[in-house]
Amino acid sequence: MLFTQIDFQQAGKQQGFLQVPYSHNLGGWANVMIPITTVASGQGPTVLILGGNHGDEYQGQIAGMKLARLLTPEMVQGRVIIIPSLNFPAARAATRLSPLDGMNMNRAFPGQAEGSVTSQIAHYLTHVLFPMSDVVIDIHSGGRSMEFVPCAHMHLVEDMAQRRQMLSAMLAWNTDFAFLYADIAGSGLLPVEAENQGKIVVTTELGGGEAIPAEVHRIAQGGLSNVLKHLGVLAGPPVTREQLGLPATIITQALRREDYLLAPESGIFEICVDLGTLVAAGQTIGFIHHLERPDRDPEEIVAGGAGYLVTMRAPCLTMQGDCVAVIAAPVDLASLDGSRT
Ligand code: CA
Repeated sequence: MLFTQIDFQQAGKQQGFLQVPYSHNLGGWANVMIPITTVASGQGPTVLILGGNHGDEYQGQIAGMKLARLLTPEMVQGRVIIIPSLNFPAARAATRLSPLDGMNMNRAFPGQAEGSVTSQIAHYLTHVLFPMSDVVIDIHSGGRSMEFVPCAHMHLVEDMAQRRQMLSAMLAWNTDFAFLYADIAGSGLLPVEAENQGKIVVTTELGGGEAIPAEVHRIAQGGLSNVLKHLGVLAGPPVTREQLGLPATIITQALRREDYLLAPESGIFEICVDLGTLVAAGQTIGFIHHLERPDRDPEEIVAGGAGYLVTMRAPCLTMQGDCVAVIAAPVDLASLDGSRT
């Protein structure tokens, strides 16, 4: 059973751990110790900030660690709870999945109180941390498997009041692109559990990989700070893209299964258009070259519909069924937030 010495009702700043029992060959009574920081002062929303849902995604882990060191109670109106490396065993191993139980944190919800380590963490979020939160921020990137245009993203939830708050928080990240996505690869996602509890859920896909450009770190850390100001939990007015002299965020959506292009066979993937490029329906996006039969023509990957290339597969070596690209069509904010039906 997960244990923490943190008192979530207490004002001020606390630094501690979520402790999950994990008995192994060299540690019979050992705990996995997941760092957690809470900073609370006065009246305001409770915002839960999560990085490292996947252990090989570093942008949110770094932004979370820096924010946890920086924040003082004087800076906060309400409560900020930060877990920089949620799947801590995976973060230590630089892997997407937990090396302890092989589980994907983002398929583990709602979790089990007496399940494996990943499942116990999910259960604690579902039953303790989500219920006390107004907002859940889950910072992802593509890890080692995908490279995204740095974007904030969300599910198009049905509750219109919740959807409007999620749309405005998504846009407060001030990214060039925003992305409305669908779950084509399984259930048990962290954001879905938080959405079902009625929370304002803010998620991102900030690039990918391990060679993270400084600009992407700036987008992660600047966007997070601006969203917290937008939510009122940090003092100071949020800035808009207009104030920064930037064009409006391009909102895109990939809600159909065919928007997610899967490799029809294995081989070496070549991308033919740059991330963030607007492509036409039927346009060639890339090729899969046949490792064992280079004399055969490569398999062509074609866009089903028009839209922006928002993400591409990162490793060139590709297995049949891997997602190699996602094409997301531009969409008006007014058609999403109910202001135009
Ligand atoms: Ca991820």
